Amino acid sequence: MSLDLPVADFMTRNLLECGPATSVGEAAVMMRDAHCGSILIVEDGLAVGIWTETDALSGPWLLLGDLDQPIAAFMSSPVKTVPQATSLGEAARCLRQEGVHHLLVVDAEGRHMGMISQTDVVQHQGVAFFIHARNVGSIIHEAPVCIGADMRFSEVRELMVARRLDALVVRDGERCGIITTRDVIGALGARQVEVTAGELASFPLLTIHRDSTLFQARDLFAQNNIRHLGVVDEQQALVALLTFGDILDSVAHEYVNGLLAELEQQTARLRETRREVIRQIGLTEAILNALPINVFVKDDQGRLIVANEMTAQTFGRPLADIIGRTDAELFSAEIASRHVEDDVRVRLAERTLVREEVLPGGRMLLSHKRFIEVEGESLLICASMDVTDWKRADALLVSGHHVLELIACGAELNVVLEALCKRMETHLPGALCSVLLLDPDGVHLRHAAGPSLPAAYSRAIDGVAIGPSVGSCGTAAYTGEQVIVPDISSSPLWADYRELTEQYGLRACWSTPFSSAGSKVLGTFAIYYREPRTPDYNDMLAISHGTRLASVAVERWQQVSELKRLATTDQLTGLGSRSHFMDSAEGELRRADRFNRDLAVLMLDIDFFKRINDQHGHAAGDEALRVFSRVLGKETRAVDLLGRIGGEEFAVVLPETGLEAALHIAERVRAAVEQASFVFHHSAPIRFTVSIGVALLQVGDSLDSLLARADNALYQAKHAGRNRVERG
Ligand code: GH3
Ligand code: MG
Ligand code: MG
Repeated sequence: MSLDLPVADFMTRNLLECGPATSVGEAAVMMRDAHCGSILIVEDGLAVGIWTETDALSGPWLLLGDLDQPIAAFMSSPVKTVPQATSLGEAARCLRQEGVHHLLVVDAEGRHMGMISQTDVVQHQGVAFFIHARNVGSIIHEAPVCIGADMRFSEVRELMVARRLDALVVRDGERCGIITTRDVIGALGARQVEVTAGELASFPLLTIHRDSTLFQARDLFAQNNIRHLGVVDEQQALVALLTFGDILDSVAHEYVNGLLAELEQQTARLRETRREVIRQIGLTEAILNALPINVFVKDDQGRLIVANEMTAQTFGRPLADIIGRTDAELFSAEIASRHVEDDVRVRLAERTLVREEVLPGGRMLLSHKRFIEVEGESLLICASMDVTDWKRADALLVSGHHVLELIACGAELNVVLEALCKRMETHLPGALCSVLLLDPDGVHLRHAAGPSLPAAYSRAIDGVAIGPSVGSCGTAAYTGEQVIVPDISSSPLWADYRELTEQYGLRACWSTPFSSAGSKVLGTFAIYYREPRTPDYNDMLAISHGTRLASVAVERWQQVSELKRLATTDQLTGLGSRSHFMDSAEGELRRADRFNRDLAVLMLDIDFFKRINDQHGHAAGDEALRVFSRVLGKETRAVDLLGRIGGEEFAVVLPETGLEAALHIAERVRAAVEQASFVFHHSAPIRFTVSIGVALLQVGDSLDSLLARADNALYQAKHAGRNRVERG
């Protein structure tokens, strides 16, 4: 259906026009000559009235005397008009409401553009359907009025007036012709009043069989450009006159009803669509307002045309106050010009732009701009959000990774903790971080790191005993709870240290204890400030990262130290294990070689050790080994390397030691062992001796060859009766 299309698409554009002073007679002739059913009366370019054949038929018939009257006296006025954008459906409704057959289509200035008639509406609206289904016979009513060809004009006219006929049939012998209102009005207008019916009529009268469809009838009308057809029966007898109007009348009623039903449906659909649109808009608005980010739209003048609640909150102004404003009105000149620059880039080149910007207060904003066109409008869709907290958390993670990398690489504990403090200080402007570790005695704190604290201050608190009121750190380590002191000068916890902190200009100290996985306090992570200060969310986040990293670093370091100790120490005696001894000995050997220094080794083996085991049990043997190790440690120097290299076999490397000195030390050890005794489970004192082989490093020696010589000397000592020292 074309109900939605504008009437301008269907209207008749070439209108017959005359001025208001034109005589009725002239107008009638114009209409007849132009084969036109109506004439528009126009004054000063505006249509002031209309005169139609229908008017002529329904009003009093013209008299000869009327012909010179101006048409203005007969026209219908005013003319019903509709704007040219009116839809065909609307026009149909209007025609029906106003009870008129024509509507004048006008432009915005009221100038007439064309005419739309009921016929136009019906013709363009699926008439084919209605007229296909019906035949001519179904709509004809009465037999036509027939007259002879010699009837005079005045009689014809009177007959038509009296019977209100719009046409009549003229018989001239076998021929049939037709006279219509237009012919009569035209002849009258032209004052051809002496003609006969035969002269006035058009011959022949075209006919159609009454069983033909209305559709076929319409085609005949259209092909011959006529308005009347004779209807004949099977015997070719004329039974009626059919006009185009009859066809339209027959379908108009049903048609208009259908049209109205259609319109109603359309209105219902529109209402539904409207409801849906309103719902969608409401939903979209609700979503926009629920978003925790600023969303707004700028028009091509840079004005804010849409913004969500968050945007209003960010500006700290009501929505109504920011809508319609430009960046220049909302921001400082500097920021506004940056935004405008970005907007131009997005519009002209990049289409999409993502930018991070730092706001005056130091907060960070991530903004996204996108250019779109909606219904011919160029718009910028902007979204921005405060990412300060994310950025900080991200930076903390990066710092954390750095510290963890140091830990994983096996960096020394003090290096890790210093790095940790420095990293945390970058997140906390003005902060001075420190880490104190709990001494193995469990009651003292030891300085571990504090790269920005005055060294003298760190020294002063190194070794402080923990307690319920010992500054922030001593108290935190003692209670296991975080201690926040926003102002040292007024805190009773710091009463004993106020002079110290004043001396170094420290005013706030927040200390957090950190623990091992087994929740044993390992130490404290402290943050000092030079002015009074209470931690905020950001500070607490950094503190929690700092303490976690410190505990990982310390615990890991403790584990690694323990592993190292286990790997290098003999469990029973506490001396170096065989492998550790060999490694260290190798190093000493190389050093002696390089610097051309003396170096001696002792190989020691306890005499008749098996007997101790046999007589007193294996545990006593173990105790003998411990006693021996203690004696050996006592009789040698700190620089000497001691190792247990077998069951009851030991070795000693004596750096910077010549043969005589080595023999002397060996003898001293031997004598001390001989003197030593121990009691095991109430036994009598148990004594034992040791045999020792001594060898001196010689040019070209390897560790193996050197130890082999010492071993050889040991063998000799055994062979010579034990409890002796021999040189190899
Ligand atoms: P010699 O004077 O020739 O050195 O005689 P010895 O008995 O000391 O030597 P031997 O090699 O015959 O015996 C060494 C014994 O030391 C054998 C072994 O059971 C014992 N032994 C080795 N390691 C340990 C240990 O860790 N603890 C104890 N209790 N005994 C050990
Ligand atoms: Mg042995
Ligand atoms: Mg032995």
